[in-house]
Amino acid sequence: MTYDPSNIFARILRGEIPCNKVYEDSHALAFSDIRPQAKVHVLVIPKGAYVSAEDFSASASDAEIVGFTRAIARVTAMLGVAGDGYRLIANTGAHGHQEVPHFHVHILGGQPIGKMVTLP
Ligand code: AMP
Repeated sequence: MTYDPSNIFARILRGEIPCNKVYEDSHALAFSDIRPQAKVHVLVIPKGAYVSAEDFSASASDAEIVGFTRAIARVTAMLGVAGDGYRLIANTGAHGHQEVPHFHVHILGGQPIGKMVTLP
């Protein structure tokens, strides 16, 4: 799948659309999900143009992968969810119900998140 630079997270990265920023560094941006599904619901996105987890894992540089992964740990520490735990979700592609075609992980926490999956 080709990266679509008009996707909403690309527009947030370019500053064209506001976000409730939680954290930013050279590799990653974290912001609140606009439709929170838990007390804590934050998205972490890489700054590079990657469609999905699949694309990021295969094509990002080692530095981007390390930088992004470390950013997630910084964000969970900042959010105060690291101790009690949280769920990391990377919806991928059609079966994964990915809506925004810029790789992102959801951090869900601040309360028990329940069982892992309820199939439709
Ligand atoms: P996914 O299904 O994993 O692609 O999830 C995309 C997420 O992006 C959803 O949880 C949306 O609520 C969230 N979202 C969409 N637009 C925005 C936005 N402008 N700011 C913050 N979160 C957004």
